[in-house]
Amino acid sequence: MFDLSPHHRKIQELARAVAAQVEDIADEADSFVRVHPGVAAALRDSGLTRYVVPAAYGGEDEILDPLSIAVVREALMYSSAHLDSLFGMQGVGSYSLAVGGAEELKRDWLPRVARLEAIAGLALTEPDVGSDLRGVTTTVESRPGGVRVNGRKSFITNGGAADFYCVLGREGEGYSMVLVPADAPGLTVRPGADLIAPHILGELHFDDVHVPEGNRLGVPGKAFSLMLQTLAVFRVTVAGSAVGLAQAALDVALRHATTREQFGRPLIGLGAVSQNLALSWVEVESARAVTYRAASLARRDPLGHLDYSSIAKVSATEAAGRVVDRSMQAMGRFGLVRGSKIERLYRNARPLRVYEGATEVLLDSLARRLAKGAS
Ligand SMILES: Cc1cc2nc3c(=O)[nH]c(=O)nc-3n(C[C@H](O)[C@H](O)[C@H](O)COP(=O)(O)OP(=O)(O)OC[C@H]3O[C@@H](n4cnc5c(N)ncnc54)[C@H](O)[C@@H]3O)c2cc1C
Repeated sequence: MFDLSPHHRKIQELARAVAAQVEDIADEADSFVRVHPGVAAALRDSGLTRYVVPAAYGGEDEILDPLSIAVVREALMYSSAHLDSLFGMQGVGSYSLAVGGAEELKRDWLPRVARLEAIAGLALTEPDVGSDLRGVTTTVESRPGGVRVNGRKSFITNGGAADFYCVLGREGEGYSMVLVPADAPGLTVRPGADLIAPHILGELHFDDVHVPEGNRLGVPGKAFSLMLQTLAVFRVTVAGSAVGLAQAALDVALRHATTREQFGRPLIGLGAVSQNLALSWVEVESARAVTYRAASLARRDPLGHLDYSSIAKVSATEAAGRVVDRSMQAMGRFGLVRGSKIERLYRNARPLRVYEGATEVLLDSLARRLAKGAS
């Protein structure tokens, strides 16, 4: 039986306190496509963003701990997807800098990321390139006095709000990453798509953007590995978010089913409704167990346990979709009301199965690993 250590319980308590603090503004914040000041202030004051930056640069842990991050995301997502995204993206957006950046660049940015004074973004996806990132067309090239970036990035979280973007581009036969400050001349950001689950999104246009050579992240032509290392630490934390959302949906449905009466008794006394809720409980607990185990494995060796992170992400995000749908069913017509908490959870559950590896893409790579005898 896996359980959290007293250390992780303390982190969970702190994250739950922040989530409770924003509960009353969560509905508004989750409709925002720019940073919600109240939510950002609560997160900043909590110091939680220190968990996504290494201690040497103002963070909490010497090496990032995916279990701490997953536990925090679970607690934050319980109340607000906006809060969860602001927290998670500070890590996802800055990890390639933490791993592959020059000392001076890290000292310049990471302490501010840890304090949520600078917002981070990771720019991989392009208008015509999603799951198959080896197809990126953005170019990175050495020029006298620096590096030049040209191309377009699409669906970038924190686009327009971020202070810098870690950008993946093609360089010769390989892939390179560079840090581009948001105010670099030649970078323009346009508002992103209007999603069913509102999200801070931007479309980035790089037109002859020049940055110093020192803004390179990792080895030129070999930076694809930085992206893999980011996924290896953070993919399992999306599973944490999914568990938090599923728990919230179950709790809403449970409250409804214990207070509303039909056929002379509370809904939970009707067999189908009780089965519905019990099955959701089974799924939430199972997803939580898989997530904690995968996160603690990722703590020891993130890349070596990427399969487990993928398993946790598929398990928890697919479970969240089923749990929230079942919760709505248990609430009958009240589950269908626009502006209700369950409606917000229903919408917020959906993107989890697409970003940081769509379910089918992860299953595809797990199947390949199985064929090689990995299980
Ligand atoms: C809310 C949100 C925030 C995002 N934030 C960022 C960000 O900050 N930075 C960034 O770079 N990107 C970001 N993205 C983009 C995200 O990473 C992509 O949406 C994701 O990689 C999938 O790419 P796609 O949407 O182009 O789908 P496609 O690649 O077109 O795939 C469509 C579908 O085809 C199936 N499929 C694809 N490939 C395979 C395969 N090999 N095997 C089996 N089935 C397959 C899957 O079902 C998949 O859902 C964000 C997306 C969303 C929704």
